[in-house]
Amino acid sequence: MGNVLVIGAGGVSSAAVHKMAMNPEIFTKITLASRRRFKCDDIAKSVKERTGVEIATAEVDAMDVGAVVKLIKETGAEILVNLALPYQDLKLMDACLEAGIHYLDTANYEPEDEAKFEYHWQWAYQDKFKEKGLTAVLGSGFDPGVTSVFATWLKKHKLDSIRQIDVLDCNGGDNTKAFATNFNPEINLREVLADARHWEKGDWQITPAMSHKVEFDFPGVGKKNMYLMYHEELESLSKHFPEIERARFWMTFGDAYIMHAKVLQNVGMTRIDPVMHNGVEIIPIQFLKTLLPDPSELGELTKGKTCIGDIVTGQAKDGSGEKTYYIYNICDHEECYREVGSQAVSYTTGVPAMIGAAMMLKGIWRDPGVWNMEQLDPDAFMDMLNTQGLPWEVHELPGPVEF
Ligand code: NDP
Repeated sequence: MGNVLVIGAGGVSSAAVHKMAMNPEIFTKITLASRRRFKCDDIAKSVKERTGVEIATAEVDAMDVGAVVKLIKETGAEILVNLALPYQDLKLMDACLEAGIHYLDTANYEPEDEAKFEYHWQWAYQDKFKEKGLTAVLGSGFDPGVTSVFATWLKKHKLDSIRQIDVLDCNGGDNTKAFATNFNPEINLREVLADARHWEKGDWQITPAMSHKVEFDFPGVGKKNMYLMYHEELESLSKHFPEIERARFWMTFGDAYIMHAKVLQNVGMTRIDPVMHNGVEIIPIQFLKTLLPDPSELGELTKGKTCIGDIVTGQAKDGSGEKTYYIYNICDHEECYREVGSQAVSYTTGVPAMIGAAMMLKGIWRDPGVWNMEQLDPDAFMDMLNTQGLPWEVHELPGPVEF
């Protein structure tokens, strides 16, 4: 059905490319390109061993628009799936516009020297994609991604309006390391250490990072502490569902993770501005990334489950008053490793990236323009979650959340 070019060869990419290869009727040709070709070749070898499918590999700097356009033309790809880092989003969108192909990513654009998590840079591409008849899908991971599709599905099938939404992200896995992040350490720490922001009554409420903790009993995982933090989908959800009174994002962290993150922040190791070290300019958080475990190598070590989902309250479609639903997926680290050689955080991001690309190749998500996931029809995507390893459940709760 379609020819795809994947950029980036880290943990998320590996999971996505394995799953693409497992769906050969949708992904008829796959090219994987990244800054270091050997990482692509390693993934290609594993894909061949596990699925028998041959994928092409290439070396490319995603910041070099001309080189990406040349690669797109050589491969004949119809869609570029950006699984590199948020810094590359705009350059890769430029390359797609120039080469005339569709675009999909899993994280919003970030300038390297500012941790803002805002969509306005990418939303500014709306007219350019529309004029060229091309589609750009933003944030097709789990969160952002599936959690936004969950909200849209609830609004389509259960609720007339959404009054409040809490996105709950629990990683109940243990990887035996003293301190490791489960996706790119630089992006992860920038996110976690930023001020917490949530949407309430038409404005952003700002609180210090990690200052608001709640214990929650997660299905399939058990009781964990989760912390209020900012996450990019809060911006798009509150824009696209203007009736929302309150939107919050919560993530679980163990005490050891919090202690390490705070110490690293206090001593300046998470700074994103350049500092001079022995006459050489370094960015501390990039040096720290070099020292920390590579998330793509945690697969074999990680045991336990993730549980990610939304608790949504709104007016029921059938006129029966206000209802609250909890919709979530439970994913097992060891099962993911057995299937594709990745831990569940890479898997829960890579599989939705594959499904989003499938939606585009099948022509289901093809309206010209730049779209967040909650703006797109959820049904076919939700069906594929069930058949592609991320089954979901929805339950009615007795009432709105009380935390
Ligand atoms: P990794 O750091 O493991 O992988 C990133 C890959 O991008 C690496 O292979 C890296 O190359 C490559 N890359 C970086 N810069 C360039 C460049 N200039 N040109 C070409 N390739 C480049 O990250 P993850 O796999 O953990 O995360 C990938 C993305 O997924 C991130 O944007 C992250 O924010 C997002 N994400 C989204 C989630 C969601 O639910 N929506 C959840 C988790 C992650 P090299 O190997 O040479 O370093």
